[in-house]
Amino acid sequence: MLERLDGLLAEVARSNAFQRDRLERIEVRSLDGLRQIAAVDKDDLLRDQHAHPPFGRNLTYPLERYVHLHQTSGTSGSTLRVLDTQEDWAWWRACLREVFEAAGVGPTDLVALAYSFGPYIQFWASYEGADAVGANRIALGGMDSVQRLETIREYAATTLVCTPSYAIRLAKVADQKGLLDALSSVRKIICTGEPGASLPAVRAQIETLWEACCFDHAGLSEVGAFGYPCADGGGVHVNEREFIVEIVAPGSEDPVADGEVGELIVTAIGRTGFPAVRYRTGDVVECCERRCPAGHTDRWLPGGILGRTDDMVVIRGMNVFPSAIEQVLREFDELGEFRITFYSEPSAMDEVKVEVELEQPRQGRAIQARLRTRLGLRVRIVPLQPGVLPAPSGKARRVVDLRTMPPRRLSRDGRQN
Ligand SMILES: [Zn+2]
Repeated sequence: MLERLDGLLAEVARSNAFQRDRLERIEVRSLDGLRQIAAVDKDDLLRDQHAHPPFGRNLTYPLERYVHLHQTSGTSGSTLRVLDTQEDWAWWRACLREVFEAAGVGPTDLVALAYSFGPYIQFWASYEGADAVGANRIALGGMDSVQRLETIREYAATTLVCTPSYAIRLAKVADQKGLLDALSSVRKIICTGEPGASLPAVRAQIETLWEACCFDHAGLSEVGAFGYPCADGGGVHVNEREFIVEIVAPGSEDPVADGEVGELIVTAIGRTGFPAVRYRTGDVVECCERRCPAGHTDRWLPGGILGRTDDMVVIRGMNVFPSAIEQVLREFDELGEFRITFYSEPSAMDEVKVEVELEQPRQGRAIQARLRTRLGLRVRIVPLQPGVLPAPSGKARRVVDLRTMPPRRLSRDGRQN
């Protein structure tokens, strides 16, 4: 492992203008030694691409070596371009193969990929991974939900790949449109693209709606597919043959202790053309020193990705993740779409409001009580008629931040700005 890492660092330092200053003359003699390299984040890569358009300088080889061009979805409005060589793409494929293998997908499976098939890497990497395990694949880009359900039914697809919110949405459309029989052939659902599939309540909801097993995995365009599902314990395992991960307190480089949540810093050992060395992912995970229930040796992230450092909101002195609110909401049946709003009262107190579609408006009280017990947080519940809120597709946007006072959001560099 250390030998491969040093090989990567030497190769990259030779010809990668973005990484050269960080990596030159560094020889990592132990994994602790890796920490002498300062971490970088997406903003660093974006600044470099703005200064050196369009692809920036994080390129180890001349442009003609690269054959895959993808973009990040740029949730903050900034799009990062990511290039891969043939060798690096083969590595992506191998990492995704581990994801599908861990979910038990193989040659007898037909995998339906319910994505738009735009320029985002996850669509194409999943498509490769399903091929690598010998499964057949159908791309459901350019279709609406009904067409997707009809296609799944027609081919009796056994495996569905999509975001967790879309898995829920698709099952609800099946119910509304009399297409519930389209769900019956699907045995496995592999989720990606947003946090949630490792939250027990979200996972349980997906498994109940589809009568199928739900698996999570984790990855980033800038880094690679670093997490594969644990079929026995839920959550994801870090692929420690290809990635070195550290979990640090947000805004610092100090490792967090067992049981604490922190930000994931990832080093990808097998990606040379667009390297990720000590990359701050912005993904928040729980640091767990325990083995998973099955005793797998790779590091276990029991809750998968809990949220993003950008999403973490400080309300009345408490760190709040929208995903934690979602987890509680999902424990209630008969609950439609919802929207979480952070706002400021004239008294300058920050507040949380959850608008939620409920068949029984009276359920709002029970939801409020459970949020209070579980999160220690007072939340205003606004019951709505079913069908009022827009249905999400792809990455769900269910969080609105309207706080007018200086937003007390923990930024990447740790300053409360
Ligand atoms: Zn496991």
